[in-house]
Amino acid sequence: MIKTVLFFLFKFINLKSAMKKFLLSFLFLSTFCLNAYCQVDLSYYLPDSVEYNPAIPTPKSIIGHEVGDWHISHDRLVNYMYALDRASDRISLEVTGYTHEARPLLLLTITSPQNHQNIEAIRVQHIQLTDPAKSAFLDTKNMPAVCYLGHSIHGNEPSGSNASLLTAYYLAAAQGKEIEEYLSNTVILLDPSFNPDGLHRFSSWVNSRKSHVISADAADMEHNEPWPSGRTNHYWFDLNRDWLVAQQPESQARIKKFHQWKPNVLTDHHEMGTNATFFFQPGVPSRVHPLTPEKNQELTRKIGTFHARALDEIGSLYYTQEGFDDFYYGKGSTFPDVQGAVGILFEQASSRGHAQESVNGILHFPFTIRNQFTTALSTLTAVYAMRTELLNYQRDFFKSAISDASKDPVKAIVFGSKDNVRSKMLAEIITLHTIDLYKPSSTQTINGKSFDKESSYIVTMNQAQYKIIKGMFEKRTQFKDSLFYDISTWTLPLALGLEYEELKTLPALGEKVAELKIPAGKLVGGKSDYAYVFESTGYYAPRAMNRLLQHDVRIKVATDPFYHSSGKRFERGSIFVPVAGQEKLGESIEYLIQEILQKDGIDIYNFKTGLDYQGVSLGSSSFQVVHKPDIAMIVGEGVNGNDAGELWHLLDERMRIPVTMLPAEVFNRTNLNEYNTLVFPSGSYTSINDASKEKLKTWVQNGGIVIGFDAALNWLTTAGLGKFDMKPSTGSSETPDKDKREMPAPRAYADIEEFRGAQQSPGAIFEAVVDLTHPLLYGYFNTKMPLYKEGNLYMEKSKNAYGNPIVFGGSPLLSGYISKPNYEKLKNSSVVGVTALGRGRVIGFTENLSFRAFWLGTNKLFTNAIFYGPIINEASGR
Ligand SMILES: [Zn+2]
Repeated sequence: MIKTVLFFLFKFINLKSAMKKFLLSFLFLSTFCLNAYCQVDLSYYLPDSVEYNPAIPTPKSIIGHEVGDWHISHDRLVNYMYALDRASDRISLEVTGYTHEARPLLLLTITSPQNHQNIEAIRVQHIQLTDPAKSAFLDTKNMPAVCYLGHSIHGNEPSGSNASLLTAYYLAAAQGKEIEEYLSNTVILLDPSFNPDGLHRFSSWVNSRKSHVISADAADMEHNEPWPSGRTNHYWFDLNRDWLVAQQPESQARIKKFHQWKPNVLTDHHEMGTNATFFFQPGVPSRVHPLTPEKNQELTRKIGTFHARALDEIGSLYYTQEGFDDFYYGKGSTFPDVQGAVGILFEQASSRGHAQESVNGILHFPFTIRNQFTTALSTLTAVYAMRTELLNYQRDFFKSAISDASKDPVKAIVFGSKDNVRSKMLAEIITLHTIDLYKPSSTQTINGKSFDKESSYIVTMNQAQYKIIKGMFEKRTQFKDSLFYDISTWTLPLALGLEYEELKTLPALGEKVAELKIPAGKLVGGKSDYAYVFESTGYYAPRAMNRLLQHDVRIKVATDPFYHSSGKRFERGSIFVPVAGQEKLGESIEYLIQEILQKDGIDIYNFKTGLDYQGVSLGSSSFQVVHKPDIAMIVGEGVNGNDAGELWHLLDERMRIPVTMLPAEVFNRTNLNEYNTLVFPSGSYTSINDASKEKLKTWVQNGGIVIGFDAALNWLTTAGLGKFDMKPSTGSSETPDKDKREMPAPRAYADIEEFRGAQQSPGAIFEAVVDLTHPLLYGYFNTKMPLYKEGNLYMEKSKNAYGNPIVFGGSPLLSGYISKPNYEKLKNSSVVGVTALGRGRVIGFTENLSFRAFWLGTNKLFTNAIFYGPIINEASGR
């Protein structure tokens, strides 16, 4: 049988024996895996060097099939983990939270029974390592290390979750001194599925398309998962970009657990393309975030030698350091690097089904599972061997954070906004990461910005979490490398559209923030018989408007400023709710007003008179009717699922605004008159036929509103629905405007990929200048707006002087990477254009306005387009 992982450090490897084992594994595969057929049992995966406790249920005895025979469904995975919890005194299971689709998020704590008796004391002592005030006297030689094993955050990269069955079985059932020694020195936190909803979506697809005679043909339906695929969660979010900002329930539950335990090592088991082999970190050395210490990469490399040995043993090919990176702290394998831990990314070539042809021969699902299981065990072997080193590193990391903070000229950061909801949302992210946060002792004006006592917060630098604070607030425009696996920057106060200032002296602090909730709005002047008015600056103003419209309350929006009898000025975009004329609604207006106050946190003013000599009176035509939106969003093949999901999440989860998710292929036979607003997320829309384009055009001419994003603008233009002229793309020419006849300077062939990569725009932050009088900007109060931009779509400015309400200026880069030629194009380009077509409007944004659900500052542009699209003056069109 095949030997896989040994528990102790191999002193050296005998080349001959490695070769013999390689041949053995080859024979094993050829004997048992004939073409696509592959029958395996537990002995294929498990080390045979130990005895297994027969009282521990095998996976098959609970799930009904051998591991790898079928793709594990999430409910069966859960059943098995509960069975282990019942059978083993090494395991305790807890539910840490629930997904959007109400699936439980499980965490198994696995350690020796003796440690389990003491688990809270072990945890408390371990956490003290991250507290420089308490860590100095801890005896790390006598403390267990903590290792977090995480699986398949991308649900259609299933070998991780399937391997978790084996890892959990092994840790529960393996017998002997070695495992006992091991379990008494380690606390293992095992999360079998980071993304249950995605795993469920993928497993039910692939299992229901499996033939008895498995087809390894890449064209087989088993290998061609439809849109939106199981990679993402319910709202199509990539959970492996959400570790830092934690906007999804899966992340929130996980990060809470992470900080309760502060593990030393965290693994993140993924899959990549079918023709690849296996990858383990470290990633590309020049693409490590500068806040991550060099020692972290050194430890990652050392742990890598354990993976290499284990994979050599079973004859698997692999690579390291040539791909992937450790830059964005929102990824599972990078987040731990700013927490005194070591995050490890594993990427296994995907069979994306039960077997698939590849350049390396037929890739069998069990083979992919075995590599993941093998490296889970090699991680544990490394953690055991490097225990003290890892614990000391963690202690030093937090100790040095304090000394780095003392050298930092910035002593604190204050942030806030007139919109206390967005301000609170950043406070939530901050406190989730066990960062101390304070209220200011009084309202203050700093550099001309007012920081209100009620809606502002102060984060001090001199604390153990100094590095992650830097990682949240820093702006960066200098980079070692010009290639990024993901975004190049994520400065959180800019993303949330907040005011903030770095303070060089520590200000007077108010109370420490313990509980965060939005205060209820105030009803100024009490119940009204005439009219209610509220401002639309609050984050949840669109939700408030929708509450009223869904109950057929007539509301109007102010297109000019006006005044309350108290003298308070109301800006354009304020919402006016007449009481008169809505009598048939009876008490329901009062009820809805109360809901807005309580749930949306918005102040509402009682207007006793419509007369206004300073501004406009309530009966003026400067108040325009807001219609109830009937929205359909086009989704499906060819549409960017992440972008569509973010819009869906914003409307459905945050704003509770109803939306029909209309598949592109259904669009052709849909009666558009059911809707007054159509949303086209970034996409190619090739499935929409010519007849439907005509139908759409007629619908717009009759008053329909189209809102398009990013690549959809190209489609809208070719479909004759708008004039969104884009600047030509740079491609791989560094100097696009140079005379075409001039021969370019020669470059080395080997640099092609590097150069092309540098022209991608991975995502950076730019400042736009906005016209606050335009309906798309109602509710905003700053003439400058930070925008997130990725990709290379640059819209020419409209020649109409009223047609450029949001534009990038001459030096708009706030933070992040962009190549020089692309930056030149971005300067003075336009972010939004409106085309008037008959009575309708086509509104096109080049940028994503709800990026990953944490880019809150631009959300209102989208909801404004929904509510105010019909009132945009046609004379402002492109
Ligand atoms: Zn992945």
